[in-house]
Amino acid sequence: MASDETYDLVVVGCGAAGLSTAVSFAETAKAEGHEARIAVLERSSEAERGASTRWTTAGMRVNKDFVMDPGWVGEMQEASQGLADLEYCLAYEQEVPATGKFLQEHGVEFIFRDQVPGMNKISASASPNGGGLAIVDALAGHLEQHPGAKIIYETEAVSLVLSDEGRVEGVRVRDRDGLMRTLRAPSVMLACGGFEGNYEMLTHYLGKNAVDLKKLVPGTRFNTGDGIRMAQAIGAATSGQFDRAHTEVVDIRTDRPDAVIAGHNFCIIVNADGKRFLDEGEKDLLDSFELVAFDIWEKANNTAYFITDDAVLGNDVLSSYFDTDVPPAKADTIRDLAAQLGLDADALEQTVNEFNAACNDAAWDSTGRYDGKSTTGITPPKSNWANPINHPPYYGIPVAAAVCFTYGGLKTDTLSRVVSTGGIPIPGLYAAGEISGITYHAYPALTTVLRACTFGRIAGAHAAVQMQEAVTVR
Ligand SMILES: Cc1cc2nc3c(=O)[nH]c(=O)nc-3n(C[C@H](O)[C@H](O)[C@H](O)COP(=O)(O)OP(=O)(O)OC[C@H]3O[C@@H](n4cnc5c(N)ncnc54)[C@H](O)[C@@H]3O)c2cc1C
Repeated sequence: MASDETYDLVVVGCGAAGLSTAVSFAETAKAEGHEARIAVLERSSEAERGASTRWTTAGMRVNKDFVMDPGWVGEMQEASQGLADLEYCLAYEQEVPATGKFLQEHGVEFIFRDQVPGMNKISASASPNGGGLAIVDALAGHLEQHPGAKIIYETEAVSLVLSDEGRVEGVRVRDRDGLMRTLRAPSVMLACGGFEGNYEMLTHYLGKNAVDLKKLVPGTRFNTGDGIRMAQAIGAATSGQFDRAHTEVVDIRTDRPDAVIAGHNFCIIVNADGKRFLDEGEKDLLDSFELVAFDIWEKANNTAYFITDDAVLGNDVLSSYFDTDVPPAKADTIRDLAAQLGLDADALEQTVNEFNAACNDAAWDSTGRYDGKSTTGITPPKSNWANPINHPPYYGIPVAAAVCFTYGGLKTDTLSRVVSTGGIPIPGLYAAGEISGITYHAYPALTTVLRACTFGRIAGAHAAVQMQEAVTVR
C-alpha cells in the first residue's frame, strides 16, 4: 500500500502557473536558508507536461521593458461590463515587470514586436522564443536543480485534504496504477487549468451543443476542471463567466493542431445555407477572433465558410492569418467555388453579389486599421474592411470553432489565495493561471500566460514566507 508523503508545498499542474509557483517558492525558501520540499503533480507524461502552456506562442501585451499595455485594465472593465475584479487587474498590471524579469532571469528569451498588423489597440507585444514550451522547459529545469523538489508525472489530483479546522493540508492523488495516496503539505497550489478538456462540464455550463466544439490543441484534453471541482467541494467561491469560453476558428479539413483561420475581418463568413450571419468587420482581429468563433458555434451549428478573393490571399501579410496546411478551395467563379465547398451555388452567388453591391467607396485598409469601409442595406452589415469580393481567383475554407480555454474558474485574491463563497481566504489554498476566473463576456487577448506566471510567482513567494513565519513562531 502506498504511504503518505509530506512536503512544504504541493502544486497541481506543471504549466506556466504551477511551475512559476514552485520555482518562486523554492527560491524564496532557499533565500531564507531552507531547502523546500515541493511536489508538482502532473497527470500527463513528461513529454506532454504543461497542457495549454506547451502549445501556445504565449503572446503578451508588454513592451520591451515588460510594462503592460496601459489600456488593458480599462479594456477588461469595459469588456466585462464592470464584472472583472478591478483590484486583481491592477495588481496584475503592477506585477508584470517583475514577472518579465523573473522569466528572463530563468533563461526565457523574448522576441519583442512593435504594433502587429490588424490589431488597433495594442502598441507592443512580446512572446518567448520557443513559445510557452520555452517557459515550461526553463522553469522545470530550474526546479529540478532544487534537491527537495520533484515533478511527479502520470499522477492526478483527485481531492483536497482538509483539517478539522478547515485548513487545506494536502491532496489525495491517483497514481498510474489507479491507487490513491495522500501528499501532505501546509500549502497547496491548484494550477491545473480550466475545464476545456471536459465535455461534461462544457455541456453543463455552455449548453447542449458543446460536444461540437473542437479541441484547438491536444494538450487541452488534460484540463478537465478538477481543481475547480476540488475547491468547490470545500466551499471555494467561483469567478468568471461559466457559460463562455475562449474559442478560435479552425480549418476543419486538417488534424494539424492550432490550424487557426484568423483573417475573418477581411472575408465574408457564410453558414451552410450560403448566407452571412454576423458582422465580420465590427471589431479588429484581436478584439473579435474569439467572438466570431463563438458565433460560428452558437449561430451556425459550428459549420461555416470563409469566402474571399485574391486581394486577401494574394497579400503576404493577410494570407499569414490563414494558418493551415491544406490549400483553400480555389475557383475562377463564385459558382465553382460553391460547388467545391458543397454549398448551393445560387445562394452563395446571391450573397456575394448583394455584399459587393452594398460596399461603400471608402478606401480599404489591408493593414487592419479601422477603415469605415462598410456596407449599407444588407443584414447583417459589415462595418469595416468591406471590400467587394471581385478579385478572382476566389477562395473558400470550411471552418468551425475550437475551444481554447474556459472563462469560469475559482475566485482568488491578489495573493492568489482561493477565497470561500463568503470571501474569506481558505487557509493553505492557492490557485493561479487559467483556473482562476476573471473573464466575462470577452477576453482581451494576450494576457493569460503572463497572468499565470505572475500570480504563480506571487503565490509561491507568499506561501514560502508563510512557511518561514510558521517555523519562526514555533
Ligand atoms: C493554442 C493556444 C494558444 C494560446 N495563445 C495564447 C497567447 O498567445 N497568449 C496568452 O496569454 N495565452 C494564450 N493561450 C492561453 C494560455 O496558453 C493558457 O491560458 C495558459 O498557458 C494556462 O496556463 P496554466 O498553467 O494555467 O495551465 P496549463 O498550462 O494548461 O497547465 C495545467 C497543467 O495541469 C495539469 N493537470 C490538469 N488536471 C490535473 C490533475 N487533476 N492532476 C494533475 N495535473 C493536472 C495539466 O496536464 C497541465 O500540465 C493559448 C492557449 C492555446 C491552447
